Amino acid sequence: MKDIRGLHDRAMDLYELGLIAAREGNMEESRRLFARALKEEIKAADSVPYDLEPTRSILHQSAASIALKIGDTHGAMKYIDAGLVGRVPAQLKEEMAILREQILVLAAEMRDYRLRPPKTLTPVQQISRRFRSTAPVDIAGLARALGLAVRQADLGQDVAGEIFPDLFRGGPSGYTIRVNSSDPLPLKRLTIAHEIAHFLLHRNRIQNKLVDDRMYRSQLDSGRERDAEKLAFDLLMPGKILGELHAVGVTDPTELANRFKVPLHVMKRRMGVKE
Ligand SMILES: [Zn+2]
Repeated sequence: MKDIRGLHDRAMDLYELGLIAAREGNMEESRRLFARALKEEIKAADSVPYDLEPTRSILHQSAASIALKIGDTHGAMKYIDAGLVGRVPAQLKEEMAILREQILVLAAEMRDYRLRPPKTLTPVQQISRRFRSTAPVDIAGLARALGLAVRQADLGQDVAGEIFPDLFRGGPSGYTIRVNSSDPLPLKRLTIAHEIAHFLLHRNRIQNKLVDDRMYRSQLDSGRERDAEKLAFDLLMPGKILGELHAVGVTDPTELANRFKVPLHVMKRRMGVKE
């Protein structure tokens, strides 16, 4: 038991150091420290007696969340599932179920989100459906459910928003979206949708940071920007709801823009209305 305690304490110390390195912007060092923390926590979780609860589930949950932090979804799933076997206290069980969903989301092949029609809905699509059933779409909620942290910041005059890997304060996916705090709400919502689209479609191309200017141009090529815009529009203004409203006579772009809480020019573009 003393050994387990020692292993766990060492894991937590390494984890703290990893967070400090991440805060200082030292991603590589931070990843290395998290990986070492994971090793220690796995040793602790593997050596805990089966009937020692809640210690056993706490250690498994901890190992799973450290693994998730460094994008090791396979390891994370292994430890969350092993942890859930046994007499887990109810509240812990709930927390572990949430963590399990986050792992599933990250494990989902987001790049193929729109290209490959799966037989059943992927976790990403299930989540997206949940958040896109009524207008206005809870776009910040969707971002968080996908494991993204959303923050506001003074990004200056020329930047609408950005997305970047963030091991310090990022969501479970390890990424943070920042929107320009001086923008009106409808524009902020568009920016969040746009950055979610980059995350889903171009996550593997975001290196240090992907910055979108006022025209939603970034270091990505214009074809990818168009793809991001298309998905952002679809996330924010789902065709299904637009169709239902159209069927009951709600067709005025201004009213629709208000209902969906999006900028009017964006709704007009979505509807194919010439300005
Ligand atoms: Zn963009």
